Amino acid sequence: MTTYWNVDQDLLPEGTERKKAVDSSIAQAAILLQQGETVAFPTETVYGLGADATSSTAVERIFRAKGRPSDNPLIVHIADTEQLSGLIQPLSLTPEHHQLMKIFWPGPLTLVLPVQTGGISPLVTAGLSTVGVRIPNHPMALRLLRSAGIPIAAPSANSSGRPSPTLASHVKDDLDGRVGGILDGGPTGVGVESTVIQIVNGQLYILRPGGITSEQLRSALPHITIHEPEREEISAVETPRAPGMKYTHYAPQGFMQIVQGGREDEVSAWIQRDIDAAKARGESTGILTFEERASWYRADLVIACGALSQPETIAQELYAALREFDQAGIQYIAAEGCEETGIGLAIMNRLRKAAGNKLVYV
Ligand code: AMP
Ligand code: MG
Repeated sequence: MTTYWNVDQDLLPEGTERKKAVDSSIAQAAILLQQGETVAFPTETVYGLGADATSSTAVERIFRAKGRPSDNPLIVHIADTEQLSGLIQPLSLTPEHHQLMKIFWPGPLTLVLPVQTGGISPLVTAGLSTVGVRIPNHPMALRLLRSAGIPIAAPSANSSGRPSPTLASHVKDDLDGRVGGILDGGPTGVGVESTVIQIVNGQLYILRPGGITSEQLRSALPHITIHEPEREEISAVETPRAPGMKYTHYAPQGFMQIVQGGREDEVSAWIQRDIDAAKARGESTGILTFEERASWYRADLVIACGALSQPETIAQELYAALREFDQAGIQYIAAEGCEETGIGLAIMNRLRKAAGNKLVYV
């Protein structure tokens, strides 16, 4: 049985009743976590599925509920920097780490640091000698972490391989009956996961692009080299790897490919021809595009996923859009790409994974 709590501040009527309801929901959710159960909760990126990071029994429940491969490590969520001491090796924080924590915590930046042996379950790190850790910037997440008082391992609260949840209803669709509780705090903010970084020999590696952009990292640390994923070939022996990156993720059930090109009129003409051909073969068709361009297309389902003029809105709506194609049973999908600057780097990273790297350049 999954307990469901509504703590969406925007939906509950204001006043002492709301305060009481929220307080008691958080307290109950924290107790479940302390008892080794799993609880899904909102963060500023996507919904996370949390469990006590110090307990292998609890962490095992996350992997089982999600069907997640055991060699894909989990990010540990904490309420404040004091909680770092039991998690990471003493003296492992450099001035650069301190600078990043000062600027971006709480927020969507995960730091990969040397793990303190015995501090957390080895299942969390998938046997690695490092642990990914962050402080989320969401009032409900922070209250839950503080009440529980333990470090909480929390991957995205979706079935492994499916798009990450940006609404509690997405969590319910995937995990109802498989987790201890779901704390519904309304829609999440950023819409894509945290940026995962590791500093090796004084250079910063972005292991996974996300809510904090390379541009933001560069302005926080102007003096160190920043390596972005997928934009350059890194062959150094000490190159860190983000183990989870090898799995297909976020994929809709239908066939999906990304269509990009230098001229937008050629891209849209190509997409429409491709979609018409799929329709003629008897497939149900979908197009993932943006507000500025949605009226150009004809398909069974055309989704305007945010606006190109405001790329943050694309990030916010991406995962819900991918789930919508599944709900409508769409078999053939063409997706437009966006520019890979700012949050666009994370958006295109997720979109490429969702499309299993199928990309047409016209
Ligand atoms: P998720 O929680 O589903 O967003 O996935 C967490 C991701 O964080 C993993 O797939 C890895 O890419 C990354 N990650 C977590 N811990 C580590 C670590 N110790 N070293 C490298 N990457 C990590
Ligand atoms: Mg995930």
